[in-house]
Amino acid sequence: MKRFTRRAALLGAGGLAGWGLSGLFRADLPTYAGTDRIVAPTGDTILNDASGLSATPVHKHLTLAEGDQTLIDVIRREMAQARAAGHPLNVGAARHSMGGQAIPREGTALTFANAGIELDSAAQTYRAHAGARWSDVIAALDPAGWSPKVMQSNNDFGLAATYSVNAHGWPVPFGPMGSTVRSLRMVLPSGDLVTCSASENADLFNLGMGGYGLIGVIVDMEIEMTRNTRLVPSFEVMPTTDYAARFKAAIQDPAVTMAYGRLNVERETFFQNALLVTYRETEDQSDLPAAAGSGWMAHAASRIYRAQLGNETFKAFRWWNETTLGPALGGGEVTRNSLINEPVVTLDDRNPDRTDILHEYFVGFDAFDSFVEACQQVIPASYQEFLNVTLRYVAQDDQAVLSFAQVPRIAAVMSFSQELTQRAEADHKRLTRALIDRVVEIGGAYYLPYRPHARLDQLTRAYPSASAFAQAKRALDPNLVLRNNLWDQYLGQL
Ligand SMILES: Cc1cc2nc3c(=O)[nH]c(=O)nc-3n(C[C@H](O)[C@H](O)[C@H](O)COP(=O)(O)OP(=O)(O)OC[C@H]3O[C@@H](n4cnc5c(N)ncnc54)[C@H](O)[C@@H]3O)c2cc1C
Repeated sequence: MKRFTRRAALLGAGGLAGWGLSGLFRADLPTYAGTDRIVAPTGDTILNDASGLSATPVHKHLTLAEGDQTLIDVIRREMAQARAAGHPLNVGAARHSMGGQAIPREGTALTFANAGIELDSAAQTYRAHAGARWSDVIAALDPAGWSPKVMQSNNDFGLAATYSVNAHGWPVPFGPMGSTVRSLRMVLPSGDLVTCSASENADLFNLGMGGYGLIGVIVDMEIEMTRNTRLVPSFEVMPTTDYAARFKAAIQDPAVTMAYGRLNVERETFFQNALLVTYRETEDQSDLPAAAGSGWMAHAASRIYRAQLGNETFKAFRWWNETTLGPALGGGEVTRNSLINEPVVTLDDRNPDRTDILHEYFVGFDAFDSFVEACQQVIPASYQEFLNVTLRYVAQDDQAVLSFAQVPRIAAVMSFSQELTQRAEADHKRLTRALIDRVVEIGGAYYLPYRPHARLDQLTRAYPSASAFAQAKRALDPNLVLRNNLWDQYLGQL
C-alpha cells in the first residue's frame, strides 16, 4: 500500500504533461512525457495491484465489510446492476496478484474486508468470511493452539483469494490450499447462492478453486486447521544436482512438517548451490508462545536481501548468511504460527523507481535438473535483477480444473526487482516468455497470479484444461459479468 502512496506523490511532483488519457492502460504502459519512466496513475476510479504496473480504469470501487446476509444482498445488487449496464464485476482482497487478475476493466470492483472467524475444534475447521486475511486467521487460531493448514508464505492475503489462485505454502506434505477447504458458499452470476464442496456441487467447487473469481463470488468458507507446534530447523547445503533427491526424501519423512529450499543467485555460479531447510517438532510441545510477527532476524535479512541489488558481493554475502551465519544465530526453536505470520511489508523495497515482480514455476522432481539448466541459461543473461528463489513442495492436485500440479511438483518462487521503465518491462516480458517456453517443454507449468506476459499458447500448454474452463464459465455466466484481466487477455480468447 505504501508503494502506491509514494507513486501518487510522484505523480504530483512529476506532473502528467503530454500524457493523454485515451487508449491508456492497454498495450503500452503510460510514461512521463519524453521519458521511459512508467507512471502509475491514481484516483478513485483507477485500480492498481502489487506490481504498480496494472493501473486500470474502473466504473466504481466499493469496499465491503458487511455481515453475511447484507453482503449477499449487496453482491446480488451489484451483479444485477453490472449485468444491466453491460460492464464486468470482480472481487479482490489484498490485490497482490500482479496482472489485473482482481480488476474489472471499466467495471465494478468489490474489495472484501470482512474478518469474522469461528473455530470448530472438534471438526478441526474454522468458518471465515471470504475477505478475512491470514493475519486475522492466525490471530484467531493461535491462542487456541491451532494453525492454518496451508497458506502462502506471507499473511496479508485474503482467504477466498487464496482459494481462487489455489495458492500453496511450505508446510508439507500438502497440495494447494483448495485441498484444505471443506466447503464454501458463493453467489453465482445467476444470483443463486450455492454451497460447494468436494461432494456437493463438486464441479463448481473445482472450477472456483484456482478460478480467479470468474465462477462466482465467494462469501464464506469452512477451512481445515492443524495443531500449532514448536519446531526446530535443520540446514543442509549441497550441490544443486543433489537437491531434488534430498528434497523428495525430506518430504517423505513423516517427521518433517515444514520444508523449503534456496539456490544461490550470484551470476558467476548461478543456481549451482542449494540449501534445504526442514523443520521437525520438538519433544516439548507445552506452553507455546504467542505467534510473533517479523523479528529482528527477518528485518536484518530484508536489508541484506535489498543490498543484493546490482551487487554480486552482497549476493555472496547473503548466501553465506543464509547457509552459515543465519543458522548459527537464528536456528533455534520457533512455532509453526510464528513462521507463517510474516507480512509482505518486511521485504518492501522502499524504492520508488523499482518494483518487485514474482514468477513461479512448477516442475516434476524428474524435470528439476533441466529446469535449473534452463534458468542458468536464461536468467543471468537478462537485464533483470534476480534476488531470490525459494523451492517448495506441492502435492498432486486432481481437483482444480486449472491445476498447476498434475503430478507432485517442486515449486520455484522467484523474486525480481524491476526498474519502472518501458525498457525493463519489455525485457521482463521477453525473459518470462523464454522461461515459460523452457518450462512447458519439460512438462511444467507457470503460476497465473503474476505479470500477464505469457503468450496465449503458453497458457494453454501449461494449463491443458483452459478451454474446458472457459466453456464451463461461459455456460455459467453467459453475460460474462465476472471478468478481470485474466479473462480479457487469456481465457476469454479460448
Ligand atoms: C509477496 C508475495 C508473496 C506470495 N507468496 C505466495 C506463496 O507463498 N504461495 C502462493 O501460492 N502464492 C503466493 N503469492 C501469490 C498470491 O497468493 C496471489 O497473488 C494472491 O492473489 C494474493 O491474494 P490477494 O488477497 O492479494 O488476492 P487478490 O489479488 O485480491 O485476488 C486474487 C484472485 O482472487 C479472486 N478473488 C478474491 N476474492 C474473491 C472472492 N471473495 N470470491 C471470488 N474470487 C475472489 C480475485 O478476483 C482474483 O482473481 C505471493 C504474492 C506476493 C505478492
